[in-house]
Amino acid sequence: MNIILFGPPGSGKGTQSARLVKQEGFFQLSTGDLLRAEVKAGSALGLSVKKILESGAYVPDAVMISLVKSCLESQVGRSVIFDGFPRTTEQAIALDDLLKELGAPIGRAVFLKVPGSELLKRLTGRRVCTQCGAVYHVDSKPSRSEGVCDVCGGNCIQRPDDKEQVIAQRLQVYEAHTAPLLDFYRRKGLLSEINGTGSESDIFDEIKKVLRA
Ligand code: ADP
Repeated sequence: MNIILFGPPGSGKGTQSARLVKQEGFFQLSTGDLLRAEVKAGSALGLSVKKILESGAYVPDAVMISLVKSCLESQVGRSVIFDGFPRTTEQAIALDDLLKELGAPIGRAVFLKVPGSELLKRLTGRRVCTQCGAVYHVDSKPSRSEGVCDVCGGNCIQRPDDKEQVIAQRLQVYEAHTAPLLDFYRRKGLLSEINGTGSESDIFDEIKKVLRA
């Protein structure tokens, strides 16, 4: 079954996706990770989106849709978690069309609900390993040694878009363009809203419950 995990920046999509990959065998299609990998590799696409990512704006729909299409074509037959896509109504419609062609529709759209004040705390304190992608938080989940990843010894940094001025912009863009997708999936009868505060494992249990219902 294909699922969409969505919610505001900092709602825990990446964290919960990683658990779903590990325990339930999903393939995680994270458009944010795909874009950051392009930037890191210095590809033409990476160069063209670097500034957009740093500013907290969205990459144009046509670029995102073609990126997702080529990624999906290499994963035919697998259950996919869409993490960070779709983010606009145009992307949602394109995804429906793509999945119709592939004969593998969306089974559930899981929305992680987290209040704004909590999002700000999570995002400003977030640190990520540039090597393996492990995620830390300076207060709630610090690495054993500051700036060094517990898992691989890599360098832990603050994402450029996790700086306070950019976060405000990301939250605004989310409200304007992505929040309307709640209604889009509610009308299709696919929406499940989950409380995204609490322990990572409690939230994961809630997601599993919804997927098994
Ligand atoms: P978060 O959910 O924490 O904001 P992501 O890692 O999912 O972070 O995305 C980081 C950035 O990548 C976004 O702010 C945006 O610039 C770009 N991006 C990712 N996915 C999309 C998308 N589907 N459409 C447009 N831009 C995207």
